[in-house]
Parts: sequence; C-alpha cells; structure tokens
Amino acid sequence: MSLLITGIGELTTHDPGLGVLTGAAVVVDGDRIAWVGPMGGAPDADERLDVGGAAVIPGFVDSHAHLVFAGDRAAEFAARMNGEPYTGGGIRTTVAATRAASDEELLAAAGRLVAEARRQGTTTIEIKSGYGLSVAQEARSLRIARQLTEETTFLGAHVVPAEYRDDPDGYVALVGGPMLAAAAPHARWIDVFCDRGAFDGDQTREILTAGAKAGLGLRVHANQLAPGPGVRLAVELGAASADHCTHLGDADVAALAGSDTVATLLPGAEFSTRSPYPDARRLLDAGVTVALATDCNPGSSYTSSMPFCLALAVREMRMTPAEALWAATAGGARALRRDDVGVLRPGARADLAVLDAPSFLHLAYRPGVPLISTVLHNGVPR
Ligand SMILES: [Zn+2]
Repeated sequence: MSLLITGIGELTTHDPGLGVLTGAAVVVDGDRIAWVGPMGGAPDADERLDVGGAAVIPGFVDSHAHLVFAGDRAAEFAARMNGEPYTGGGIRTTVAATRAASDEELLAAAGRLVAEARRQGTTTIEIKSGYGLSVAQEARSLRIARQLTEETTFLGAHVVPAEYRDDPDGYVALVGGPMLAAAAPHARWIDVFCDRGAFDGDQTREILTAGAKAGLGLRVHANQLAPGPGVRLAVELGAASADHCTHLGDADVAALAGSDTVATLLPGAEFSTRSPYPDARRLLDAGVTVALATDCNPGSSYTSSMPFCLALAVREMRMTPAEALWAATAGGARALRRDDVGVLRPGARADLAVLDAPSFLHLAYRPGVPLISTVLHNGVPR
C-alpha cells in the first residue's frame, strides 16, 4: 500500500541534499519513505492525502524517557514550587509504588504515556528501567518497555535503593553482575545516573564497562545537579549520549566537541525543578551535536511533550527554532545511533508529523497549542 501526501506548504527533511521544500509532496510505500520532491513531479500512489498547505516535519525522536513506573509525585512538585529543592531522593517513592504494581498496571500506564507522546508527534521513544532496582524488578521493567519500543535502556544504576543504603558498592556489584545479566536480553542500552547523591565516577565506570562487555550501548545521566566526571567518562567510554549536561566546564565541552557523543539536553527537568537551564549556545558554538528529549518521569519532568521541550529550548536556551527542531528529531536519532529516523528522505522510516500550521516556526511561537494534526508512524496514520 502506497500513500501520496501532497499539498505540503513547508517540508523539513533534515536531508542535506533536500533541505526545506515548499510546495512539496512525499510518497510513502509500506513503512518507508519512497519519494520526496516538488508537488508537480510526484509519482502516483494507491491513496492520496492533501494536507492543504500545512507544514510537515520528521516525527520527533525522544531519546530519553522513564515510562515504566506507578503513581505520581504531584505533591512533591507542588512542595518544590513552594521552595523545597530537588535532590533526586523522591525516586525512592516511585520505586516503592512501582514494585507494588502488577505487570498489567505498569504496561497500561506506560502505554498511555507512549500514546500521549504519539499524539504530540513523537514516533521514536527510548524507555528506561530504573524504578525496580532489584534483579527481578529491573528485568520485568525492561520486558514491559520492550513491548512498547525497541529502544530500551537498563538503568539499574538510577539510585541506590534503601536496602543497600549502607552498602552502595555491594549494589554497584549487583547492578554490574546478576542484574545486568537478567536485564541485557531485554535492553539495547545501559545508563548510569552519575551525579552528586547518585553514583560516582568509579562506580559509573565499573557499571558501564560491564554493560559494554554484555553488548549494550552506553548512555550517561551526566552533570545534571553538579559538575562531575560524567560527561568526560561518557566521551572516554564512547557513549552514544551524555544526558542533561547542565553543569559543564571547558574540558567537558571540549571533550564532547571532539567526540561522537551527543549532548542530550532535557529542559523539561530544569523547568520542573526550577533550575538554571543548560547552555545550549555554548555547546552548539563549540561544534557539539545536541539533542533534545523530554526526560519524561514522574519526579523531575512529567511531560511527554516534545513541542513543549522545543519551545523551552528556543525561549530559555537560545537555540534557533531550526536548531531546536533538528535536535528534537535528527539529534535524537544521533543520540540513539539511528539513521533511519529524524529525517525524511527515500529509504527512511515513514515517521512524520503534519502540523496544523504553515511552518515549523509555529511550534515554539505558539507554545502549549496542540499543533500536531496527523502523525504517521511506520507509514500508518494514528
Ligand atoms: Zn532521566
């Protein structure tokens, strides 16, 4: 089954050869893009969709989300807005609720968030474990995540659970040993929260090295709450992405600029914890590849909305609208080491969003407005 999407007022492809087209059309064949070009030259297809001058963009690639959990922390958010600082300690509240939930409850809740993200234009989403923190619970979280995405990440090293409070190195050994062995069959990636109050540089290195040996790709929660070794470790170990990057020194920026490690910025977290935003301009000007993602989680960033994060990046982090759109699509693809998403060119996945607007500029210009009118995922409208 092929589909001709025509009447595209502005088509952002993120393909260097195609650029931004006006008066464009796209032909989808099965789950792939078959043709991209000017409306007049489009080949025939089985079905036809005229979008009447609307803008079309690649589907968003949300490369950082924590969706397998139970309960919420709205009261903690309200207290924080009243002046209490964010410490990351509330993660243990979600761990208790998650452990008590059934498989069916966790899958249904995560599935609702994936559907919510899809309505807002997200067609690829990474999902982390990290609220189970035992061998069986982490494996279960990843089995559930695998039912929703191929981009699953083992985050046993999210926080040291209460039962290991007096033996953090024992917990590190568990994560890099039996927990990793149980998690690896269901995961593509391994991640560590390397920060003040979480895991230090030595612990992070031990866990990531074990993960790489087990065949997993590497990601790091780095330099969110304080300066530290996370970003430089991510680069040294060849991680696909260093996420947060809020507190960076010159050596961190230089390391990222000379590497294939993407700096994934998560402005929803700074919004929700009322913290200073990362310096996106400094990273971009240094030549670092930047991605934007939601960090969707019940504690520090409970939004599944890539358009919201894109608007924050433009308004609060001085990214241009074009840089922010690239970071939220092609940048996310780089952070997941994918070349088949975040771009609209023949051969890429037919993952795209039709906007209820004439230009992608409206995404940041009209924040909070539901501008995503149609989403195609693997060629299927939903
Ligand atoms: Zn996170």
